[in-house]
Amino acid sequence: MAWVEAVSSDEPERRRYRLKNPVTLEPLGEFDAQTGAEVRAAVERARKVQPAWAELGSDDRGRYLARAVQHLIARQDEFVQVIVAETGKPTVEAFASEIMGSCDVLTFYAKRARRILADRTLPVHLMRNKKLRISYRPLGVVGIITPWNFPFLLSLNPTAQALMAGNAVILKPSEVTAFSGRLLEELFEAAGLPEGVFQVLLGDGETGRALCDAGVDKISFTGSVATGRKVGELCGRNLVPCTLELGGKDPMIVCSDADLERAANGAVFGAFSNAGQVCISTERVYVVEEVADEFTRKVVEKTAALRQGAGGEFDVGAMITPSQLEIVERHVRDAVTKGARVLAGGRRNPAWQGLFFEPTVLVDVTHEMDVMREETFGPVLPIMRVRDEQEALLRANDSRYGLNANVWTRDKRKGVELAKAIEAGAVVVNDCMVTYGVTEAPFGGRKDSGIGQVNGEVGLRSYCHAQAILVDRFGGKAEPSWYPHTGRKLGRMKRLLRFVWGTPLGRLLS
Ligand code: NAD
Repeated sequence: MAWVEAVSSDEPERRRYRLKNPVTLEPLGEFDAQTGAEVRAAVERARKVQPAWAELGSDDRGRYLARAVQHLIARQDEFVQVIVAETGKPTVEAFASEIMGSCDVLTFYAKRARRILADRTLPVHLMRNKKLRISYRPLGVVGIITPWNFPFLLSLNPTAQALMAGNAVILKPSEVTAFSGRLLEELFEAAGLPEGVFQVLLGDGETGRALCDAGVDKISFTGSVATGRKVGELCGRNLVPCTLELGGKDPMIVCSDADLERAANGAVFGAFSNAGQVCISTERVYVVEEVADEFTRKVVEKTAALRQGAGGEFDVGAMITPSQLEIVERHVRDAVTKGARVLAGGRRNPAWQGLFFEPTVLVDVTHEMDVMREETFGPVLPIMRVRDEQEALLRANDSRYGLNANVWTRDKRKGVELAKAIEAGAVVVNDCMVTYGVTEAPFGGRKDSGIGQVNGEVGLRSYCHAQAILVDRFGGKAEPSWYPHTGRKLGRMKRLLRFVWGTPLGRLLS
């Protein structure tokens, strides 16, 4: 069953879609996918208004973002309702990550952009007769393509950064959560953003592809590895810079000296929050055998206590699409066939007609199982016993993914050393999933989990070109390296070479 159902449109050339609520399975509404011509027209509009937006300066741009925060506070319940209806996530989770998270990033970049993007002068180590200034110039028009799991925050966060850097932005949210994506349009319109500076194009993969091909100056993509590869290929062909924030298979390492109560609580939250549909979910656990039984017992007990459902107070919501739920079923089936045991869950929740899969704990898992190798993106926690921390590290790194990881130990110094040895974009010690929420922390994956980083100073600057401006300090008729080339000049160069890189004093000075 196609979840985002194609329906016929009055215009034969146009693709139209119907969305459904994953809890009630009722239709939520329909939308038209924007065509390639509409995408190109949006880029043209953006290009016309971007210079004036860049001209404003970061303090003035920040005032628009601050107004957006006030609007978001005023309409929080309405926005949460749209997000919950589209995703089936618990209201508390929608509120915490999508609304509070968005208020934080808007305020963070609005307040700090002036400092982070101010021109910098750097000392020059060799050509001391030059002055080096780095100026962070806006790129122009930035295309942002986003997924459905945090449909508001993951669209808003790169948008806030790109806008504060002085760019015009065109957002293409996921077709699965088109209405949450459209909320951003309302938000920035209410904040009074000049027309055309921020535009939302609803649509499918074809619309996203058209955006990558429409002459934008950067693509900021968040989504699956498979789509990221296509986006990267297209951007490469067009010589358009891109950041690719892709999927993960995050490992959790539980050392023998871990606080097992905290680690078990962290494992349950890390695996089942947003029904496991978080790029930085805990997707596999390696626990040292000395403490494996106790840790597993605690995890199973806490998993069994979770309340799954919709409306009111509950912990774990629905999954978003039938195809996502089928991946989860396939991974659990494959694991059980190969010898895994199910200690909790393991099936669709029979109490609900919507897309609910019970929070599931698996043991006796191996790296021959899909659940330990492929991104599951669902409420499944496989636990593997390992001899010691070294084996845990080897297993953690035995993956094509490298997004995030978490390590649990009472010895924080050891935790940091283990973190450094894990091939992941970010690692948390004695907590999980906080990396995206700590706005200062650069965020981005290694290996197949992506290219480039968002967030913090690095992220904000990545929406600019760091332009080097070199200013000559002393003047004079000509530089020693200019014409004419003579034998005397070559001799001087050779003496200079010997002095600068061949003597202790030269090396000290350079
Ligand atoms: P997806 O790759 O299917 O879709 C992401 C976006 O790409 C959507 O807007 C889609 O319409 C668009 N798209 C599809 N085909 C395209 C094409 N050929 N060209 C351009 N755009 C195209 O991903 P999804 O299923 O929406 O999201 C789930 C995935 O996202 C998971 O793998 C998850 O781990 C990952 N994710 C990563 C991060 C991160 O920051 N690293 C955050 C959230 C989700």
